[in-house]
Amino acid sequence: MELFFLEFLENLVSVYSFGNIKYFGSLYVSVPVALFFVFFPLSYITGKRLMSEDIANDFVIYWFRNTFLGFIVGMFVYAFLATFIPFEKANFLGQVPLFVQIPVYYLIIEFLAYAWHMSLHHFNFLWGIHKKHHENYQLNYANSHRDSFLNMTMFIIFVKLSVETFDIQFLTFLITLTIHEVLSALSHFGTEWDFGRWGYFFLSPRFHNDHHRAVLEAKKEELPMIGNFGASLSFFDYLFRTTLKGRFKP
Ligand SMILES: [Zn+2]
Ligand SMILES: [Zn+2]
Repeated sequence: MELFFLEFLENLVSVYSFGNIKYFGSLYVSVPVALFFVFFPLSYITGKRLMSEDIANDFVIYWFRNTFLGFIVGMFVYAFLATFIPFEKANFLGQVPLFVQIPVYYLIIEFLAYAWHMSLHHFNFLWGIHKKHHENYQLNYANSHRDSFLNMTMFIIFVKLSVETFDIQFLTFLITLTIHEVLSALSHFGTEWDFGRWGYFFLSPRFHNDHHRAVLEAKKEELPMIGNFGASLSFFDYLFRTTLKGRFKP
């Protein structure tokens, strides 16, 4: 018991260390900067607003507050789990050059997000923590994390687990997560862009709009087990045949 407690304490010290805070904290700078450079020209071209009361609200509550608290709680849960379960390191990714590590890690993160999102729509007890994301509203680019606090915390635990398991370097983490966040924000931009052929790989606003449309269309009492579960790519939906293709006319 005493040994368990000591190991738990040791894990706690390591998850709240500067080295670890640097990983997640860096997203507070990189993501807003990247969002600005992508959405400033886009809002100019489309006439869509870059800032409104609704968007500011999403940034403060879901991007800032939930990520911050999700980090505190998620890391605590991770430290607790790591005391029980000896997570095996699969450090084959830690040794390859960045140009290989980044795309491979990207696919890992996206696959986790895809599988998790599908589970959220598949199991009744999980649907409860995702339905907030599907309440009826006009989509805007800051909506991608408008979800329950529990869901954000799970996202942080998954990311931490993947970083530890695959021995992910800081730069890979920063680039991968920043691109992932920008693409998932773009999928909530609320336009009907389908990206043409690129839409078979990247998640277009059109593709994700259909995901939201299908949930709104489903009857209230039934679990909306629908399709288009990708978070930033449509790739896994095409691979595992979970697209809603053809269900909604353009
Ligand atoms: Zn969903
Ligand atoms: Zn969405």
